[in-house]
Amino acid sequence: MTNPTVAVADAASGPVPPTLSATELPPSVGAFHYTRYKVCTPPLEQGGIESGRHPVVIAGGGPVGMALALGLANHGVRCVILEADDTVCVGSRAACISRRSLEIMERLGVRPAFMAKGLPWTGGRSFYKTAEVFRFEMPHDAQQKLPPMINLEQYYAEHYLLEEIFRRNEATPGLIDIRWGTELTGLAQDDDEGVTMAVRNADGSYRLQGQWLAACDGGQSFVRKALGLALEGTGYEGRYVIIDIELHSDHPTERRAWFDPPWNPGSTVLMHRQPDDIWRIDYQLRVGQSTEEALQPAAVAEFVQRHLDAIGEGHLPWKTVDLGLPRGCDDARELPPRPRRVRGQCGACDADLRRARAQLGFRRCGQPGVEAGVGRARPVGCGAARFLLAGAHCGLPRQCRERDAQHRVHVAAVARF
Ligand SMILES: Cc1cc2nc3c(=O)[nH]c(=O)nc-3n(C[C@H](O)[C@H](O)[C@H](O)COP(=O)(O)OP(=O)(O)OC[C@H]3O[C@@H](n4cnc5c(N)ncnc54)[C@H](O)[C@@H]3O)c2cc1C
Repeated sequence: MTNPTVAVADAASGPVPPTLSATELPPSVGAFHYTRYKVCTPPLEQGGIESGRHPVVIAGGGPVGMALALGLANHGVRCVILEADDTVCVGSRAACISRRSLEIMERLGVRPAFMAKGLPWTGGRSFYKTAEVFRFEMPHDAQQKLPPMINLEQYYAEHYLLEEIFRRNEATPGLIDIRWGTELTGLAQDDDEGVTMAVRNADGSYRLQGQWLAACDGGQSFVRKALGLALEGTGYEGRYVIIDIELHSDHPTERRAWFDPPWNPGSTVLMHRQPDDIWRIDYQLRVGQSTEEALQPAAVAEFVQRHLDAIGEGHLPWKTVDLGLPRGCDDARELPPRPRRVRGQCGACDADLRRARAQLGFRRCGQPGVEAGVGRARPVGCGAARFLLAGAHCGLPRQCRERDAQHRVHVAAVARF
């Protein structure tokens, strides 16, 4: 790599080890069945480098990376996605998708699939102890094409984005080149021409070059670390157990939140209905409560039953389908749920979010989840596409133009985990 402006990072420090040894499929969840995608290495020149320079390379094939790829494809811009894993996300992650994100999904061609599977909802209720103290309805009327929110598990969202990528590739072969099981392990910004990247997969290591690198590699972003960028933003800390259960309940789709309920005193519980009769429960651990003890499967089961009893659904049979597992686990079934450290879901975050949007994905900002990431991928995709198509800075907002002269790496989106 010549004239690097950013040092090549240490491969061993990559945040998500590739699941190279995994042969079994992750267990199905409801009607969702996983597929593992093949690792492919392109033809290499001597010295282990791929010939040519890709217009855009995207690190990370999560919802944000795939949304960015489809946004670029809308402008006819080819890209390569480097994805360390070889399947869509495993386990319970983002669950709620807003109208604004659905509008973006419409432009990307996946709105019908999201709407066909997702559960629309318009409001929610909050309880203090056992009394309902607040009820909200989001603005919605018959003139609105889209609901204010839908609930859809993230693995479905990623699967639908992927299906659209396959459709685009059928129409235009090679438009979005996804390299599964391929981890970005190093990068160097070349003075004028772009970025040189080092990657590894099950076949070995190689290098490739891009005019642009977009960092969509999640909250533990390798690119961010390699560039020495801290994740900034307003945050608060809380330890949550996340559990998905299968429960055949007739309760409508709405957001329910309990504050200081008798069955979790001093803490909160959230409950959301998702497709396939899967219900997501997030419950907060109390200050001083032992994480280790709380995470024992028996303790989790006991909590869920206590919660269902308290809300009048304890007579319904239920079973655990997901315990909020981290990615890359060898045996998902035996692992306990994990507590989350939550960043930025409080009111103060809105200001950070606006700032983040204004900065169009260049800088260091905490963001609350997939919503913000997808929202941010869109302008970055449009900007990059305009830049590439026009071959000049004219299509980019001013603050992007100033930085583009020196920087070829876009930290397109980050999430909070
Ligand atoms: C347990 C849990 C619950 C959550 N619940 C919610 C929720 O309720 N609502 C909400 O909005 N959000 C939630 N989130 C957050 C949400 O999942 C993220 O905001 C969302 O996944 C961000 O999308 P992304 O594409 O930016 O990153 P990710 O989904 O993390 O995707 C990044 C991708 O990059 C890949 N990658 C990472 N490093 C490399 C590398 N070096 N080389 C190549 N590929 C790499 C990863 O394999 C991954 O596929 C939750 C997250 C977790 C873990």
